Amino acid sequence: MYNSSARLKAFEVQIVRNETVMADIETIASLAKRRGFAFQSSDIYGGLGSVWDYGPLGVELKNNVKRAWWRAVVYERDDVVGLDAGILMNRLVWKYSGHEETFSDPLVDCRKCKSRLRADKIEDKCPVCGSVDLTPPRQFNLMFRTTVGPVEDESGLAYLRPETAQGIFVNFKNVLDSTNRKLPFGVAQIGKAFRNEITPGNFIFRTREFEQMEIEFFVKPPDALSEGELTDEEWHERWIEDRLNWYISLGMRADNIRKHEQELLAHYSKRTVDLEYRFFPDREDEEKQWDELEGIANRTDFDLKAHSKKPVDAEGKRLNPDSIADQTFFDHATNQHLFPYVIEPSAGVDRSVLAFLMDAYHEEEVRGEKRIVLKLHRDLAPIKVAVLPLARNKEGIVNLAKEIKSRLQRTGAMRAVYDDTAGIGKLYRRQDEVGTPLCITVDHQSLEDNEVTIRDRDTMEQERVPIAEIETIIGKKLGLAVGS
Ligand code: ATP
Repeated sequence: MYNSSARLKAFEVQIVRNETVMADIETIASLAKRRGFAFQSSDIYGGLGSVWDYGPLGVELKNNVKRAWWRAVVYERDDVVGLDAGILMNRLVWKYSGHEETFSDPLVDCRKCKSRLRADKIEDKCPVCGSVDLTPPRQFNLMFRTTVGPVEDESGLAYLRPETAQGIFVNFKNVLDSTNRKLPFGVAQIGKAFRNEITPGNFIFRTREFEQMEIEFFVKPPDALSEGELTDEEWHERWIEDRLNWYISLGMRADNIRKHEQELLAHYSKRTVDLEYRFFPDREDEEKQWDELEGIANRTDFDLKAHSKKPVDAEGKRLNPDSIADQTFFDHATNQHLFPYVIEPSAGVDRSVLAFLMDAYHEEEVRGEKRIVLKLHRDLAPIKVAVLPLARNKEGIVNLAKEIKSRLQRTGAMRAVYDDTAGIGKLYRRQDEVGTPLCITVDHQSLEDNEVTIRDRDTMEQERVPIAEIETIIGKKLGLAVGS
């Protein structure tokens, strides 16, 4: 009898060589373009060197990263709620947050080749032409300006937010009053942020439009603690560990992520620890391979105080004469109004996407051929299952494959696709390259025994399973509550 599952097996043989060399950003950018993860913005007009558009697979991956984060920091905890604030805000937000005055980078110009450079990122010569003829550094504010309303003058001046955090601080009272929360509690937000970076680059690592995932976690200040309550410093430690473990729980290799104590603290910070990823594995100097993935700061009570009508200076003059809010929390235990401290884990969506892609990238040799495989965690994989017919000109096989795809899609729990545009070997390779954890192959025998072959991305092992139970079997393999 014609045994198509035996034929399938012939395509997959043992992995001969498993490369552990890490991919660099360029390799990932090229894969991203080829397979539809991310494209240069406005490509057909020569591009805009600081913005990237996420393609069909990129948008799925990005959504999965955001969903995994939201699940971990909102749904799986009892002490964090969500928020989605506007990108445009009253200009006064940025006045009192300190951004108008201090959100800037030191800019220098190279007099020889006219490059604009960030003074703190270069040594004393131009990295483009090598000239030492540089202007003295001057501060360049990174906020994008726009005007609100039909008149383009200073009165309508507004900024595109350079961070999502301030949207949370100015809603502190609203959240508190509408949810009856007690300290400690946090507010989580995901959204776009904009920075007119002097030197954007390295694919989606540093762009002018990007997305952030931020939590402001409000805790009691040190002088209001009751017996047994955690201090702001202890909460800070907890969040550092929780956030580090989140990346590792999603498959990131522990030797590619590390904690880094920030020495140069921002004006609002008591202590900041960055989580750094090995974004530049190709650099010879180990120390230079690392860069920031997420910053976790203890911002003390700086922001809530800055946006509050209450605090006064030595002469009794209000520090913020514009705010109408008292941003304090009334603590029943100590019978006093107090300004909470805040712990801020602030992550970049795009940098997380890049780190997960770099970490998942593997090149292996299978029967003398190179296999590129993205070993993405199943929760992050853009496509969970691909259903592939072994013969695209056999109506029975094609229909059965399409029906299985629809059944999986109807579970509402996953992105499934149908593909018959190449031979099975090639179809497997295509799915490997974009990280699809499972392929289902429908063959001639399926029509007779009502079974299909499931093939695992990482081990390339195959097993026959009954079509009748496909939702439950796939759901179980993907860790989803489906069909049971
Ligand atoms: P950097 O030192 O790299 O400029 P930062 O310290 O200014 O970053 P934060 O203000 O702490 O960054 O922002 C929190 C997170 O937002 C960063 O850890 C990063 O993941 C992300 N992020 C910040 N700026 C950008 C950018 N220009 N492009 C992409 N992601 C960014």
